[in-house]
Amino acid sequence: MKKKIPHRLYLSEDQLPKQWYNLRADMKELPDPMLNPANFQPATAEELYAVFCNELAHQELDNTTRYFDIPEEIQEFYKMYRPSPLIRAYHLEKALGTPAKIYYKYEGNNTSGSHKLNSAVAQAYYAKKQGLSGLTTETGAGQWGTALAEACSYFNLPLIVYMVKVSYEQKPFRKSVMQTFDAQIIPSPSNTTNVGRKILEQNPNTGGSLGCAISEAVEKAVSTPGYRYVLGSVLNQVLLHQSVIGLESKTALEMLDEYPDIVIGCAGGGSNLGGLIAPFMQDKLLGKASPRIIAVEPASCPSLTRGKYAYDFCDTGKVTPLAKMYTLGCGFIPSPNHAGGLRYHGMSPVLSKLYHDGYMEAVAVEQTKVFEAAVLFAKQETILPAPESAHAIRGAIDEALKCKETGEAKTILFGLTGTGYFDMTAYNSYLEQTMTDFIPSDEDLQKAFSQLPKIPGIQ
Ligand SMILES: *Cc1c(COP(=O)(O)O)cnc(C)c1O
Repeated sequence: MKKKIPHRLYLSEDQLPKQWYNLRADMKELPDPMLNPANFQPATAEELYAVFCNELAHQELDNTTRYFDIPEEIQEFYKMYRPSPLIRAYHLEKALGTPAKIYYKYEGNNTSGSHKLNSAVAQAYYAKKQGLSGLTTETGAGQWGTALAEACSYFNLPLIVYMVKVSYEQKPFRKSVMQTFDAQIIPSPSNTTNVGRKILEQNPNTGGSLGCAISEAVEKAVSTPGYRYVLGSVLNQVLLHQSVIGLESKTALEMLDEYPDIVIGCAGGGSNLGGLIAPFMQDKLLGKASPRIIAVEPASCPSLTRGKYAYDFCDTGKVTPLAKMYTLGCGFIPSPNHAGGLRYHGMSPVLSKLYHDGYMEAVAVEQTKVFEAAVLFAKQETILPAPESAHAIRGAIDEALKCKETGEAKTILFGLTGTGYFDMTAYNSYLEQTMTDFIPSDEDLQKAFSQLPKIPGIQ
């Protein structure tokens, strides 16, 4: 008899992961090390201590420890909103008329509305344990700032958030949520830092960018005693924490006797994708399985599909270490009409390396296509997705439609990273048909590439 697969599968508390999985431990070739921009030597733990909490600096540099115990306190916090459900998209499958089986891991069931809380709580926990006086960070669309505000208020840790100015103006309620959790919000660029003042001087009307907000948050952290900086994506430590998404997904699929043929995630800085694919990529690296792994990025900010694999700064102000990654150049700022998040110029060094070595694929999609997928999904599955998440939906729908043509009943797993309630301005512009697509020209990209740092003997 055919086993009936439930619509939603929740693991029990005792099935939740007790360790995070570090993908780097199984990579055949490691990503190139982060470099100190002052001497172009690999950044050391001591150098990172000035910016990051000590424990997080160790996690950042540790390429060999395969599993890290999740501290009890963090496990307890996770239980307030985890496990997240693994959902079979029966209604979407039917609407598409596809033989494919579509599953999604839904990370929007918490106040931050995204997967970002998974790393926020870890980072706040280690900062508290080290006895720090506070943290600084940046936020673009606002999900990371919200997640970190929730986590910091839980551990009674002061937080300063540099919020990209356009978002600050377009999403006043995001600001209110963060303030509910006691965070101090500063629109970026601001006159509270040297780099902010410099950027404002050159470009007084700028709406800001993530890269610029990062520069301000880093400067503020290193110039305020007892403060450290935390980042919600891109870094190795963040991918490590986000591995809970993939580990839970894999256990849930095993309970259903399923294994994905295709794993799909949206890619901004790469943290949800890196977390979702972690145990499946492990199988691939160890030769146990060979799922296709697909990153979906915006055509307006196409770091994997059109970027260069090179050392670059992680921020516009050039205050961070250099990372080897697919990048559009740290001066790249996506067109202001780009509504869907995922606006970071670079990509996680781990994912960049895996992509470079052929372990995963990437596609770039235009935002009107993304919102079309978002609306179809919302109507079928009754979850209003974040525009970022809708990139993964687009990718999953496109693969499911290919299955319809070939008649193959593939199993597709995608990451539904969050909800879109604070993105209704973007939804409106799609619904009113004022949304347009913007694809940067080769000249635009060339201009940003020409600013890549010159590194003696390397690039
Ligand atoms: C931040 C965010 C993303 C993109 O970030 P990654 O680090 O690439 O995962 C995707 N979806 C949602 C809902 C987000 O908040």
